[in-house]
Amino acid sequence: MIDPNIVLGLYIIGIILFILALRWMSEVRTCRRGNWAAASGMGFAVVATLLAYEIQRIDLLLAAVAVGLIVGAPIAFKVPMTAVPQRTAMSQAFGSLAVALIGTAEYYTKAPNVDTFTMAVLATEMILGFLTFAGSIIAFAKLQALIPGRPFVYPGKNFVSLTILGIAGAVGVYLVIYPSQSFVLPLMDVLALGFGFLLVMGIGGADMPTVIAILNSYTGMSAAALGFVLDNKLLIVAGSLDGSSGFILAMIMSKAMNRSFVNVLFGGVGQKIVKGEKGKAVEARPVQAYAVEDVATILDNARSVIIVPGYGMAVAQAQHVVKEVTDVLKERGVDVKFGIHPVAGRMPGHMNVLMAEAQVPYEDLWEMEKINPSFPETDVAIVVGANDVTNPAARTKADSPLYGMPILNVDKAKTVIFIKRSMSPGFSGADNELFYLPNTWMVFGDAKKVLSDLLAAMKKS
Ligand code: NAP
Repeated sequence: MIDPNIVLGLYIIGIILFILALRWMSEVRTCRRGNWAAASGMGFAVVATLLAYEIQRIDLLLAAVAVGLIVGAPIAFKVPMTAVPQRTAMSQAFGSLAVALIGTAEYYTKAPNVDTFTMAVLATEMILGFLTFAGSIIAFAKLQALIPGRPFVYPGKNFVSLTILGIAGAVGVYLVIYPSQSFVLPLMDVLALGFGFLLVMGIGGADMPTVIAILNSYTGMSAAALGFVLDNKLLIVAGSLDGSSGFILAMIMSKAMNRSFVNVLFGGVGQKIVKGEKGKAVEARPVQAYAVEDVATILDNARSVIIVPGYGMAVAQAQHVVKEVTDVLKERGVDVKFGIHPVAGRMPGHMNVLMAEAQVPYEDLWEMEKINPSFPETDVAIVVGANDVTNPAARTKADSPLYGMPILNVDKAKTVIFIKRSMSPGFSGADNELFYLPNTWMVFGDAKKVLSDLLAAMKKS
């Protein structure tokens, strides 16, 4: 029999590592260390749990670990950074399903002798677990473009969703009062699945990052609840850390997009996209298309440049050539800064990670609030594969899906250079007025190719 103090000691080490991991992951400089700390913390947690429960069938456990490795390792190595949000959604789906199924197994093991507290916690965690599972699968399918990303809206949508959640809650309360009535449990689970499905089907466009964070928070909360049922302190702490950090991230994302939680969850934002379809040119208005040689010429005379990276830079993997262009400009004495929008790309911190990978100094990365006052005095703003995060419709057009989202004020710069392949809209599907302004130069092409050609032209001039 293992001394419980050893298990407790290992759990405490795991908890400390999880807390340090969150701290370290909040900065680009220390995030790799944070990742290692989190993985080691999980290692301690697994070993401690194996010791605590004196596992009988280690062969089954090893088989499960092997399956996990065979499936997980290639995903971790192969998934491109642009697909991390859907990969995260998939992880959440698995995590929440595991929590919900363990809760279900606990119920059937204990029933009918389940005390009120345990049954209340079990019902809560099963509802949260199943709804998060269904929601995460839909989030995955939307982000992977397996189903349309736009919100599925219909009259009375919120009423239907809340009624389903209400009935699931009522069935949960019934189980708390009559824990032996196990026949209602599948009904509760199906209703929770239905609510999760409808919840995320009704959300789309620019709100997906916030939804992922909220689902992350739900997974954490259901795991923490399960920790109470299993009397596992590590699970309570790890679940609470996950739940609260997901919640805080969702709040930060909502603030970055100037949206309230309730609005994100029930607003169905994105349904107002009336102009054209995503991926198609929206309007045939004239724009000014320029060649890289023209851009090289204007940069010859520029004293200040702000680079705004976006999702397209990630797709093109153009971060290294962006850095090279920056180096040439700096050698000429040009003041170069990067404007980083909090929801640029497809995951929180996406641009920071890519710029760090390209060895852009941290002090050159400016957050939106700090960089925005600099645009009016800036000679050239170069937008590399960004779109929504620069779209002035967010300020002016009440019918735009982006309305209310704070943007990078690139339109205030003396000249704006847009590097993208076509006139296609960005993630939200909204057309960008900026393309048609007289001070905007469009340079069409893959960001990496355009910037490589620009670099060559700059070196010649
Ligand atoms: P965006 O609005 O999605 O626009 C990206 C642009 O990149 C597109 O218009 C596309 O135009 C261009 N592009 C794609 N591939 C390219 C390539 N190889 N070379 C050059 N350009 C390329 O991106 P964003 O401005 O970064 O805004 C992010 C959007 O995603 C926001 O709406 C945000 O809410 C949403 N979102 C963010 C997160 C997050 O956590 N950061 C998560 C999910 C969703 P072309 O096709 O014409 O090239």
